[in-house]
Amino acid sequence: MASPRSKLTDAQRRRIMQAVRGRNTGLEMIVRRLVHSMGYRYRLHRRNLPGSPDLVFGPRRKVIFVHGCFWHFHQEPGCKIAHVPASRREYWWAKLSRNVARDSRQQHVLSAEGWGVLVLWECEIRAGDGRTLQEKIRKFLD
Ligand SMILES: [Zn+2]
Repeated sequence: MASPRSKLTDAQRRRIMQAVRGRNTGLEMIVRRLVHSMGYRYRLHRRNLPGSPDLVFGPRRKVIFVHGCFWHFHQEPGCKIAHVPASRREYWWAKLSRNVARDSRQQHVLSAEGWGVLVLWECEIRAGDGRTLQEKIRKFLD
């Protein structure tokens, strides 16, 4: 319920929150379109779930996170995007490490509550023709 002092509509508040949280990125749109074209139904950003997963498949009790490799610090030798910036290395190292720890904590809670969790990374979303990605999603959801 909106507070009486608030002059923002729900739609306005939602847009602001999305901007603040960096949601609705091009990356996420690619995944949404792909999943939709595969015939799956999902909901977006269920805020009552840890980490507010990007796609939520309620009846299947599964969630998908779409992670940018830099901010979520993709720990994969083949990833060419994740890195610690050369200046202020200690600051970035601490910040990115905190992000990794938070992601891991949230995914752990989701698993403990019986949710299947899939993380799709920026570098794998951008790689290839999407077929590998599609197979991965299908395998996870079916
Ligand atoms: Zn990556």
